[in-house]
Amino acid sequence: MEITKPTVTLLAVTPNAEKLIEEAGRTCYLSLDRIAEGTEKSFIRNCIKRGHHSILEHAAATFRITGASRAFTHQLVRHRIASFSQQSQRYVDEAGFNYVIPDDIRADEEAAALFRECMARSEETYRTLRERGIRKEDARFVLPNALESQIVFSANFRELRTILHLRLDRSAQWEIRRVCADMLLLLQKEAPSVFGDFVIDGETMTARSDLL
Ligand SMILES: Cc1cc2nc3c(=O)[nH]c(=O)nc-3n(C[C@H](O)[C@H](O)[C@H](O)COP(=O)(O)OP(=O)(O)OC[C@H]3O[C@@H](n4cnc5c(N)ncnc54)[C@H](O)[C@@H]3O)c2cc1C
Repeated sequence: MEITKPTVTLLAVTPNAEKLIEEAGRTCYLSLDRIAEGTEKSFIRNCIKRGHHSILEHAAATFRITGASRAFTHQLVRHRIASFSQQSQRYVDEAGFNYVIPDDIRADEEAAALFRECMARSEETYRTLRERGIRKEDARFVLPNALESQIVFSANFRELRTILHLRLDRSAQWEIRRVCADMLLLLQKEAPSVFGDFVIDGETMTARSDLL
């Protein structure tokens, strides 16, 4: 199946994340007595402004990403402070694989035809190798970067800010920008004081914060 859009699902997030961050942060100043309803907002914003970012490591989120390519996951897994569980090409048979087709290729009829032909040939070769008894771990060498690869990843809020900063920049690749834009919207709902400084431009799928 051809995929045109990734799906990002928030699987888990630290409960009362912002209050937890405030409590941890206020321990540094022994100002726990100042905790009241809504005080986390300005406390967290100030800490972020001053570069006191380690307090953000007390909260974390876990996402499932489907409908994105192996080219995308290869970029995501470069983020070393995050944790990943990714669909294995050693244990999962990839015959009949789904693949992502980039918009620019889809928009060009001839390029799209070439691309689809390549996917079909790759799939057919993979299937033939498997039928000949070649193991999945070897047959996978003919699989394309476009192949869908499901992944679950967890990261603390500090690392998530780093990922969003790098991957929502104009210089980042479109697919990872698209995933990060969806992630940012989900995170802004859960923890507006931590992620609210990122201003997203829906048209270009870029976002920036002046606080990083
Ligand atoms: C636009 C773009 C183009 C890229 N092009 C290429 C490319 O052509 N080739 C390529 O190989 N990669 C490329 N990358 C990947 C890039 O080099 C990083 O590996 C990736 O973005 C992960 O970023 P990071 O290491 O800052 O963050 P993470 O691994 O997420 O780490 C988070 C932060 O922790 C700190 N940290 C983590 N580990 C260390 C360490 N060992 N020492 C010191 N500090 C550490 C750093 O402050 C880091 O920013 C590209 C990335 C982007 C955004």
